[in-house]
Amino acid sequence: MVEPVERFLVLWAEIADLGHAMGLLSWDQETHMPRAGGGARARLQATLAGVRHARLVAPELEETLERCAARAEPESALAAQVREARRILGRVRCIPERLARAQAEAAAAGHEAWTAARAARDFAPFRPALERLVQLAREEAGLLTAPGAPLAGCGLYDAFLDEHEPGARVGDVGLLLGDLARELVPLVRAAAASGRRPDPGAARGEFAPERQLAFAREIAERFGFDFARGRIDAAPHPFCSGFGRDDVRLTWRYDAHDLRPALFGILHEAGHGLYEQNLPSEWQRTPIGGAVSLGVHESQSRLWENLVGRSRAFWIWALPRLHASFPGARGIALDALLPLLHTAEPSLIRVEADQGTYDLHVCVRFELERALFAGELEVADLPAAWDEAYARTLGLHPRDAAEGVLQDIHWSMGAFGYFPTYTLGNLIAAQLFAAARAELGELDALFARGEFRPLREWLGERIHRHGSFHPAAELVRRATGRALSSADYLAQRRADVREYYGVA
Ligand code: ZN
Repeated sequence: MVEPVERFLVLWAEIADLGHAMGLLSWDQETHMPRAGGGARARLQATLAGVRHARLVAPELEETLERCAARAEPESALAAQVREARRILGRVRCIPERLARAQAEAAAAGHEAWTAARAARDFAPFRPALERLVQLAREEAGLLTAPGAPLAGCGLYDAFLDEHEPGARVGDVGLLLGDLARELVPLVRAAAASGRRPDPGAARGEFAPERQLAFAREIAERFGFDFARGRIDAAPHPFCSGFGRDDVRLTWRYDAHDLRPALFGILHEAGHGLYEQNLPSEWQRTPIGGAVSLGVHESQSRLWENLVGRSRAFWIWALPRLHASFPGARGIALDALLPLLHTAEPSLIRVEADQGTYDLHVCVRFELERALFAGELEVADLPAAWDEAYARTLGLHPRDAAEGVLQDIHWSMGAFGYFPTYTLGNLIAAQLFAAARAELGELDALFARGEFRPLREWLGERIHRHGSFHPAAELVRRATGRALSSADYLAQRRADVREYYGVA
């Protein structure tokens, strides 16, 4: 008889491979696939998704898992494998095939309706599709939170938070985001009232795309991203996908007149990529071999993009390299560039928002999603609620739905509870950075010499190498010595507004 642990790991490795194959097809779709290939690609993905689902619900997997559970020592890797596998399978088994199929169809229809509505800048054509998506999502969450289900006793919105950030609950996330909104709203107002506005000319000019790529690539490499185990390609949206630690793909896009989108986009994705490339090799293709949560993943990208890549110390090292790469940029000076990298100017579009205001966009979406699943808000009232929330938090009024409630793709595909992970990423990044600084000493002196290895190794030791062995909240607590709070992140926001807007 085959040993049950061995058999379970073989079965799981095949499931992981199917997931990676699907990821690779998605990557190809965004980078190389001819436009006409969409129909065939959708069928191919559906076939693989069906095969993967059948493997996940197969009785043999369940039997071997329970036999693993019976012999797992507490605190062991096997116990963590069992915990993660049960969490993943618990969700899958709870959703009947009829509902999963209805959701896939509603997401395809929703995305099409959203694209048309956005082009028409009118919410009305999207409304029926979104109502259907919300109705199905409420049904799914109802099943996941019913007595005896994996999230029994939780609220409906918890079911979506838990999908992206296992263990996260609306009460805790609400407290963290509530702290942020309370402090950030007056801070952003004070920055505006200071009358200071950095000159956007400091990052503008003519920047040949291939040079932009070479410049950012050199920095990503210096951060530690290994291009022998990764690559970078152009795509309409920047993202990172990993198919095991030895094949990690980044994408980028550029603005030929502004350095920032390509540079910070690549540094952001390289941060995600460093996590993927340094996941534990011994647990690859197992339930605990991957990243632990979206929030922790996002903390890695935001740490390298914002806390390293926007710091004065980093630019002391990078600016001479920038001047050498772009002779036309020799006029860019440190003291003109830095304020431009630390703005806090309210804007309407989340993906274009600066670091000083980004989280307020997330707070609005969290508030609306929470209300939708608490039965306090209906889809028909969403546009008005959106506009009211933007006026209250950012002081701005969208001219139409395209600038407002229709701007994000997430809801059109039925993805709820995803937005908060962006802000959790900011909070985790700030707390990790503070802990690293306390232990490693003068990071600024290292950055100014282009030395990033001590920080990367610290992150590898505290975060990357653990995969999903510890739940996310526990991982952060172990890495930093305390539970996640908004304190370090708010301290950074206040310091930036003090330094760049002269507001005490
Ligand atoms: Zn990211």
